[in-house]
Amino acid sequence: MSQTHGPPNATASSAEASTAAESLYIDGTWQAAAAGETREIRCPADSSPVATVAEGDRSDGERAIAAARAAFDEGTWPSTSPWERGDLLLRVSDILVRDREEFARAESLDTGKRLVESGYDMDDIAACFRYYGKIAGTDPGHVVDTGSNDAISRVSYEPVGVCGLITPWNFPLLQVAWKVAPAIAAGNTFVLKPSELTPSTAMLLMRALHEAGLPAGVGNLVLGKGSEVGALLSEHPDVDLVSFTGGLHTGRAIAASAASNVKRVALELGGKNPNVVFADADFETAVDYAMTAIFLHSGQVCSAGARLIVQDEIHDALVDEIVRRAQSIKLGGPFDEDAETGPLISAEHRAKVEDYVRRSVEEGAVLRTGGRRPEGERFESGHFYLPTVLDEVEQGSQAVVEESFGPVLTIERFRDEDDAVRIANDTHYGLAGAVFTSDASKAQRVAGRLRHGTVWINDFHPYLPQAEWGGFKQSGIGRELGGGGLREYQEAKHIYQNLRPEPQHLFAAE
Ligand code: NAD
Repeated sequence: MSQTHGPPNATASSAEASTAAESLYIDGTWQAAAAGETREIRCPADSSPVATVAEGDRSDGERAIAAARAAFDEGTWPSTSPWERGDLLLRVSDILVRDREEFARAESLDTGKRLVESGYDMDDIAACFRYYGKIAGTDPGHVVDTGSNDAISRVSYEPVGVCGLITPWNFPLLQVAWKVAPAIAAGNTFVLKPSELTPSTAMLLMRALHEAGLPAGVGNLVLGKGSEVGALLSEHPDVDLVSFTGGLHTGRAIAASAASNVKRVALELGGKNPNVVFADADFETAVDYAMTAIFLHSGQVCSAGARLIVQDEIHDALVDEIVRRAQSIKLGGPFDEDAETGPLISAEHRAKVEDYVRRSVEEGAVLRTGGRRPEGERFESGHFYLPTVLDEVEQGSQAVVEESFGPVLTIERFRDEDDAVRIANDTHYGLAGAVFTSDASKAQRVAGRLRHGTVWINDFHPYLPQAEWGGFKQSGIGRELGGGGLREYQEAKHIYQNLRPEPQHLFAAE
């Protein structure tokens, strides 16, 4: 295994794919997979080669876990000052700002996402690192009143240990940042396994962490399949916490494996998110946000507003207008100036979306637009799918229960406020939802009754690094972002000191 100073250029244009055989970062060095396996990454917009990267397996994962374990148990990292760790995160944030274009380009090539959107993601990622850089050390714990002058007591927060971080492909580096930044702020060590489809920006981040001075072994990157490296992280006895973002079924499997050594588990899973529009909402605003809610990034957003729940009186006008606008959405690749949204991540994923739409129509949904691939030569080698609207879906049908994770909007109707809340809560998910109305008091009432981790009023999608993000019900366990996102990576410890020790004589001395 050789040592390099960073991953090879991960930002080649789609015409000039890079080769990064040494793309696992373990114990401070860039390494090839022990078995010599590689994986070719292709741009979903045109299937052109982007990069060839190392494909790790369980033995690479074992090496990375051992490095993270040693750095935690034997190194000085867990006891560094939180201010020092915070400074490191601020340096990473600065690097992200400096290298914004390189990161954004790499993200767009892996995902097919428009370059401008990847740029916004990089801004959010830099903000996340800055936020955790600034709050590291601001909450050292608290003193507990013992009720006695003869004893003092305090609660402090310590790192959990070795963290296994497993992330998806839709917002590749954003999901990584939400885990890596608080894990570092809290003094943990980690092994990161990003989605095998989108590894490039995770590699660039490890390069940035290296440059910012992260000690060897503290942060490790292993690329590879979920069934190999991901499964290892969730079951390995030397991993203390597994934090996963991805699909519900994978989350269930990870939680079951993690039970073997009672690992801490944090799960950010899917959503089937309701967007409730009352008849008194500003029409133009409601239409505009309904479009963004579902068609941004072609619906491959965990908090996508995939269920439009609209009041009877405005159903026809609202749906007609959404259908009209959906038909004129411009699809294209990451660097097409006129594209408004891009492709799906893979041929397999598009096949799943197609199957979901077919089954929805079979069970009675009315296909108002889309439901097929776009025509034209420029779309032939990419995984494009037309913005799709399914009207008159039945409550409880698979169309409203299942997450399609594609550009597919389902429409349900409601009569009144109670009806709206009942329908919006009729899901086993509970990630996010929105309410559109001009009645501020009704907005607050409905927001209070929605069983979802985030509720937007007259808006859709904003999130803040300082506000907790996560799901009710089967959308997850735990929270990312905010102070709660830091707590996920900490153990609370109570220390009690008797200042006047003397025998208690609860038991006779002889
Ligand atoms: P996925 O569950 O297929 O994969 C996610 C990650 O888990 C990948 O790195 C994958 O390699 C790994 N993995 C797969 N099988 C594994 C196993 N048996 N053990 C351990 N790891 C394994 O999800 P995906 O298709 O990459 O992402 C889409 C899903 O992610 C959607 O359901 C979406 O809603 C969800 N998501 C949720 C949030 C959130 O914040 N709640 C954010 C983004 C995405």
